[in-house]
Amino acid sequence: MPASRSRPYVGRLAPSPTGLLHLGHARTFALAAARAAGGRLLLRMDDLDGARCRPEFAAAALADLAWLGLAWEEPVIVQSSRLPAYRAALARLHAAGLVYPCDRSRKDLAGALAAPHEAAGDDEPLYPAAWRPPAATPLPPLDPAGLARNWRFRVPEGETVAFTDARLGPRAAVCGRDFGDFLVWRKDGLPSYQLACAVDDAALGITEVVRGEDLVRSTFRQLLLLAALLPPGAPPPGYFHAPLLHDENGTRLAKRHAALALHTLRAQGVEPRTLIA
Ligand code: GLU
Repeated sequence: MPASRSRPYVGRLAPSPTGLLHLGHARTFALAAARAAGGRLLLRMDDLDGARCRPEFAAAALADLAWLGLAWEEPVIVQSSRLPAYRAALARLHAAGLVYPCDRSRKDLAGALAAPHEAAGDDEPLYPAAWRPPAATPLPPLDPAGLARNWRFRVPEGETVAFTDARLGPRAAVCGRDFGDFLVWRKDGLPSYQLACAVDDAALGITEVVRGEDLVRSTFRQLLLLAALLPPGAPPPGYFHAPLLHDENGTRLAKRHAALALHTLRAQGVEPRTLIA
């Protein structure tokens, strides 16, 4: 159990109920459970994406994880029931002047980025610094109309965010070069994944986040949010980014690989122990 004695291990499984879990999830979640052995393991259902999340996928995820032999603490934490916590976090970022409203569309951004800005392999295009309001611009309030806008986090331009991943070793990224101002709130009235995840990891006292290595770049963003939201001196979680599984063509396993869905493997009588091995 890789945690200091002063900080008992608290880990979490965080499935998104947007499809059936597959072999890649099984490996990541089994790793998360193994690293939490002797400590606590929570389960958080990342169900904020209303258009893609479905209750039947949430039920299937719980059944698949139990079938794998993983055990977590009840109750399950459900993000869609935590909106007040996310609004409170946005209000704190707003009070600290760390966010600004952004009415640019995805299309605006795509247009601006045919240009040289794009960070290689990024999951979210680099937001042009020229589009941010000057730092001293007064912010509109977060009244109901304010919550119906997109809000971006203002990254500290040129600063390096660094952490030591328990598997990958030291990682670092430069704000404004490797990633730019990112969405924390969406005009549909919901937090972005980055904000919800940081708020929950802080609120639940997670000591180590185990997740796929496709999320390394999100970790830099979440570390900025955690620095703004955690009490002074409170450490952020540690991170262990797990390797991703690929199919025989080298394509990353995704929810569309139905043949490798845990649900399918279970129906075929595959033993969960052989999967985890
Ligand atoms: N729910 C996210 C996903 O399935 C994982 C979030 C996380 O572990 O931080 O990609």
